[in-house]
Amino acid sequence: MKLKVIAFDADDTLWVNEPYFQNTEKKFCSLLEDFLPGQDISKELFKVEVDNLPLYGYGIKGYILSMIEAALKISDNKISVETINIILQYGREMLNEPIELLAGVEEVLSTLKTDFRLVVATKGDLLDQERKLKKSGLAHYFHHIEIMSDKREDDYIKLIKHLDINPEEFMMVGNSLKSDVMPVLNIGGYAIHVPYHTTWAHEHVETSLSHEKFKQADTLADILAQIQA
Ligand SMILES: [Mg+2]
Repeated sequence: MKLKVIAFDADDTLWVNEPYFQNTEKKFCSLLEDFLPGQDISKELFKVEVDNLPLYGYGIKGYILSMIEAALKISDNKISVETINIILQYGREMLNEPIELLAGVEEVLSTLKTDFRLVVATKGDLLDQERKLKKSGLAHYFHHIEIMSDKREDDYIKLIKHLDINPEEFMMVGNSLKSDVMPVLNIGGYAIHVPYHTTWAHEHVETSLSHEKFKQADTLADILAQIQA
């Protein structure tokens, strides 16, 4: 390996994210329980979210708009202004959640920083991800922060060009096989999958991956042994 850059996904790789969305979804389901059973509300919300991705992108702001849109649909436009206010409040609460670092993050970043250029490569709202990075206290470990509108092969090719390296000098570490691993392997880079206990349905893929440039780690701390091996 002639690795130069190791890029890290942020949400559910460096810090907790998905549980905040799941908590909000639970509250959203209770809020609208007079109109539909909870499971159907979740399904409706997911559909609206995914349909809106090309328009709003990933992140909390788009999620808030999708919750309002789903609430209007579910209630046949009967939700009150008060309910819309409550949904907006859910969103504000999400934006103000504390940053909870996952185990081993500081150890891994401080160890790898001496031998590699470290990068954050994350989807989401620019402002929100910048806020989280600042609050996390991790910014000083990173040479570059890339907030990506999506994580497809083209997006990684652009990032790698920007970093002035070749794909075989690039490794991505993240919790999503779909976004952090498969596109990177497809363009010739290395990838390590560090699963998180819960994954957003949209990121979920059924696959058992076998690839010479791919490794699986149980925890973030485990990647050290795998990179230094
Ligand atoms: Mg992630």
